Amino acid sequence: MPGQYTTTVETLIECRSCGFPLAHEFADLGHSPLANRFVPASDREDPENRHKLCAKVCGNCFLVQLDTVISAAELFSDYDYAYYSSYSTTWLEHARRYAEQVNERFGLGPDSLVIEVASNDGYLLRNFVAKGVPVLGVEPAANVAEGAIKAGIQTDVEFFGESYAKQKLAAGFSADVMVANNVLAHVPNIHDFVEGFKTLLKPTGVATFEFQHLLNIVKLVQFDTIYHEHYSYLSLLSIEQIFARHGLRVFDVQELSTHGGSLRVFVSHETGSGLAEDASVAAVRAKELEAGLADLNTYSGFQTKIEIIKSDFRAFLAQAQREGKSIVGYGAAAKGTTFLNFCDVSASDLEYVADRSAAKQTLLLPGNHIPVVPPEQIFETKPDYILVLAWNLIDEIRAQLSGVGDWGAKLVVAVPKMELIAPQ
Ligand SMILES: [Zn+2]
Repeated sequence: MPGQYTTTVETLIECRSCGFPLAHEFADLGHSPLANRFVPASDREDPENRHKLCAKVCGNCFLVQLDTVISAAELFSDYDYAYYSSYSTTWLEHARRYAEQVNERFGLGPDSLVIEVASNDGYLLRNFVAKGVPVLGVEPAANVAEGAIKAGIQTDVEFFGESYAKQKLAAGFSADVMVANNVLAHVPNIHDFVEGFKTLLKPTGVATFEFQHLLNIVKLVQFDTIYHEHYSYLSLLSIEQIFARHGLRVFDVQELSTHGGSLRVFVSHETGSGLAEDASVAAVRAKELEAGLADLNTYSGFQTKIEIIKSDFRAFLAQAQREGKSIVGYGAAAKGTTFLNFCDVSASDLEYVADRSAAKQTLLLPGNHIPVVPPEQIFETKPDYILVLAWNLIDEIRAQLSGVGDWGAKLVVAVPKMELIAPQ
């Protein structure tokens, strides 16, 4: 029964980065089911585990982190992990451009090695393979890694950390480029993880990390990106302190539009890499300080903002229901679980959630058990409102739903504030 599982839940009382007592609340989202644990329709009536979902901020290093820690093995490999990168065209294009840029900038070739941690189904590494650059993927979810292996992309089914890195180093592996996109936040033991990069990176090697930027979470009230799989919420301010403890330094940083606003940091060994620090590093540092990321007052006002989003959305739902309008959702993303759960949305409020991923289409959303259906159903049932849960893909979704204007449907985005958007 997927909804009922035994789990190791720990409460974090010290900062996972610096060890300082964790005392300041950032966002309390009540109790929530695991965001990616979709439920088979046959288990509809089974009770489901819920866990406290509360993010705190460290008053010393300003790392935002969950204080409820569910073991990573249970989150990522013990069940059918429903997230496959390859389904978003925006993300595939992002990966292709990254490979192009890195290949050129660091002069990669047939003697180089690119290692990607959390390499998923090989969506990114295949761009390097196409250019004749040797690659190694590391992916803990066996069913996801299988896709990469079938496509001929060398992949280890492993959790990445210092012990794995040492084994590979002993076996003769060392990397010119290491990539970790949207994985730092998923790592409970961030020091062990980062030390693995220190170990496997050649003296002149470069590691790049992409993560959702806390600056945007704070400024754009992206509270729905908080869920149990995300242990940490990162800024340049907090991550530089982590790298420094492992003899690594950030020498370049790019601001990206992905996932509602991300950072891509370029990291090298502290000494000997020959790579000068780009002006972008000081610029982003200054931007974060200006936005108050080193000031506890910035964090303490967040809860009020998310309560306003909830009450505005509930008011919209009530109004639409009074008017007899039909409402469905689009994008069965993890952030949808947090949003719908926090806003107390039930299967009677939202008829279904459409999603392009075939793997999710027979399943129910965690917690509220709203069914996931193929997008074609929107064109059959012709709803009045389509709530876009995956708001980070709004441009792509507007294009996919361009036909819904024919019957006057409106797209609804609730984060950072309620907005009705005409389809393209
Ligand atoms: Zn700390």
